[in-house]
Amino acid sequence: MTNVALIVAAGRGTRAGPGGPKQYRLLGGIAVLRRTLVAFASHPGIDHVLAVIHPDDADSYQAAAAGLPKLLPPSFGGATRQASVALGLESLHKISPTNVLIHDGARPLVSAAIINRTLDALKTHRGALVALPVTDTLRRAEAGQASETVSREGLWRAQTPQAFRFDAILDAHRKASASDLTDDVAVAAAAGIDVTMIEGDEMNLKITSAADLDLAERLLGTSGESRTGSGYDVHRFGPGDHVWLCGVRVPHTNGLIGHSDADAGLHALTDAILGAIGEGDIGQHFPPSDPQWKGAASDRFLAHAAKLVSDKGARIVHVDVTFICERPKIGPQRDAMRARVADILALDTDRVSIKATTTEGLGFTGRNEGLAAQALATVRFP
Ligand code: MG
Repeated sequence: MTNVALIVAAGRGTRAGPGGPKQYRLLGGIAVLRRTLVAFASHPGIDHVLAVIHPDDADSYQAAAAGLPKLLPPSFGGATRQASVALGLESLHKISPTNVLIHDGARPLVSAAIINRTLDALKTHRGALVALPVTDTLRRAEAGQASETVSREGLWRAQTPQAFRFDAILDAHRKASASDLTDDVAVAAAAGIDVTMIEGDEMNLKITSAADLDLAERLLGTSGESRTGSGYDVHRFGPGDHVWLCGVRVPHTNGLIGHSDADAGLHALTDAILGAIGEGDIGQHFPPSDPQWKGAASDRFLAHAAKLVSDKGARIVHVDVTFICERPKIGPQRDAMRARVADILALDTDRVSIKATTTEGLGFTGRNEGLAAQALATVRFP
């Protein structure tokens, strides 16, 4: 048994706006058509992949297909989708495969599960159509006014692959050559081929517009970008019986000296977040010269930085604070600190890391003159 994927990619894709045919646009840095070719070429049930392309796109195709296995030399398409498929099928005549899976080049997110279901269906049917049941309410509109509801009973949205026994669909296309049918199921139906329905999925969308490209980027998680900021802070030990570290009151033989509560952990973390969003540093937002910040609890500094992030439409995805000190011991306070920082930033605790290290008795932290903290914050922009 031989299974061939016939990828229809001859369209000009003018609906996607300027920038060339949509099947050669980049999706997450990879051409849409290359993703489609890979989906089939990497599937163990597919023996060959044939793309039907526009003659003007030969160079783009070579770039998109470079290095991929199982590819047959591409065929050139015709004036319509139906004509392109027919030309592709004719070129497969020499191979005469058992089955052919006809798939839109602009549906790059087709899953291995859909290809599996399609191949399974062809064991018992001469044709199979991947589709999704219509779940939205359908309503007719007249002159812009909502009118009656239309029953969605029995209605499906056709996707691809549309798959057939090769001999049957080749014959059907030859018979249909004079007509203009919208897809291969219509061609098959005109020839009396039974076509069973297979459930597709929403990921298997067709990229016809710039908005579809954006949606596909989101589905792939390749939209947006991450930015990382770092922060560092030091405070000197002085008289006192406790210190504030990451919003937790920690009993100690000394206090920390500072204009606010001297919470080096929250100060470093606030700077890290400000760094990730390019908003200067903590001293710029809360000048030490301003008396209103004297003795202030540092959670408000951190909350302010978090608000600046959300004002930009971004979100904090991870923070990591490292204390550098001989004493106090951080380990016993770690869970309380993670919970407190998570609470201030409205994050899950597993997105907050608190660590500690010593400097082996060296330097100002080794001599217990002070305590340092450094932090990283990762922010995701949509
Ligand atoms: Mg500080």
